[in-house]
Amino acid sequence: MHHFQYRDGALFAEEVDLRDIVAAVGSPVYVYASATITRHYDLFAKAVGAPRNRVFYAVKANANLGVLQTLAALGAGADTVSEGEIRKALAAGIPAERIVFSGVGKMAHELAFAVEQGIYQVNIETEGELDLLNRIAVERGKRQAAVFRINPDVGAGGHAKITTGSSDNKFGISFEEAGRLYARAANLPGIRIAGVATHIGSQITDVAAFEPAFRRLRALVETLRGEGHGVERLDFGGGLGIPYDVPYPFSQGPALIEAYAGLIERVLGGLEVERGFEPGRLIVGNAGILVTQALYLNPRPARTFLVVDAAMNDLVRPAMYDAYHEIWPLREPAADAERQRYDVVGPICETGDTFATGRSMARVAPGDLLAFMSAGAYGASMSSSYNQRPLVPEVLVRGGEFFVTRPRQTYDDLIGQDRLPVWSA
Ligand SMILES: *Cc1c(COP(=O)(O)O)cnc(C)c1O
Repeated sequence: MHHFQYRDGALFAEEVDLRDIVAAVGSPVYVYASATITRHYDLFAKAVGAPRNRVFYAVKANANLGVLQTLAALGAGADTVSEGEIRKALAAGIPAERIVFSGVGKMAHELAFAVEQGIYQVNIETEGELDLLNRIAVERGKRQAAVFRINPDVGAGGHAKITTGSSDNKFGISFEEAGRLYARAANLPGIRIAGVATHIGSQITDVAAFEPAFRRLRALVETLRGEGHGVERLDFGGGLGIPYDVPYPFSQGPALIEAYAGLIERVLGGLEVERGFEPGRLIVGNAGILVTQALYLNPRPARTFLVVDAAMNDLVRPAMYDAYHEIWPLREPAADAERQRYDVVGPICETGDTFATGRSMARVAPGDLLAFMSAGAYGASMSSSYNQRPLVPEVLVRGGEFFVTRPRQTYDDLIGQDRLPVWSA
């Protein structure tokens, strides 16, 4: 569920009329509802037994400082995949003791920063990383807590590009290698292996997809313990999906979370481990929208193109994952409003810059404001300035207030990042 609703014919984010935000910062603009972030975080944290178990919000889904600050205040930890994300989490008030560092290709300077900050856990994905982390920690006189990310050879996820748990994917250590690496790590003075982690994919809306991976995880824990290794922590990764394609308000959320927590209890109950979770999309996906303005209509014999001012550089999910986003007008259409089919496209010179094809909508006129719904996860965080389009602003709403947590990038910012070469000859 979320907090974007019509009131007297106008779309609101919590108590704020979205037209007021557009009047203040222009279009396109990302808008986030803190009430939705809070609701989703609290529901999830309660279902999985936090704070006894731990929730590390996956920062890559939405790294806005205002979003991170909101989560920090709720007690969330952070799952990060780069030094930049660790720095952002720290800047938003998430302490190092609540930060996990994941990722297949961590660089030496990133591991060094993580160790120096004293983060909670490094999720190791290769033997090379194990050795590098050990060396870095020893050089600093530290012992870093870590877990092995295991590839359970079970693929799942809403799209081939977001499936990560199959042995054909680049992620993690195989089951067969886990015991050997555990034994090796026992002799490394810079590392303390605390357990194992997994993450099988994203946008998973049927919890049954997790079950084979979780069963294999349980078997692995029992095997490792049988070999005399300590396993205190189990990190389940993220991956729970959200509804993108149903009319709102929608409230499957709690049911899915309950089913997920129930599955974990059923499959892994009684194991005596601290459980860790890394939800991203589930927390922020339906907490954000991208507001855009209709620019032009381009009627053709077979279709009508609706050109809007947002583009694939602002929201790449449709182009990259064939993702579906509901499109709601900011002014509520009458129930009997005439409808038309549109191909909703952005201004970029690529056919992939298409948000929707043949979408039936109440008639749109140039100048109308529209919202791409469910754009809070993997929206702004994946945006770029392709075509030299400045990054769009991000606004956080709380109750009747809104705050511009990221102003629109200026042309000076955009150009000033480059340097004109000065040659010596
Ligand atoms: C991307 C990712 C997550 C978050 O995935 P969601 O589908 O957004 O919940 C969690 N853990 C790891 C290791 C990831 O790569």
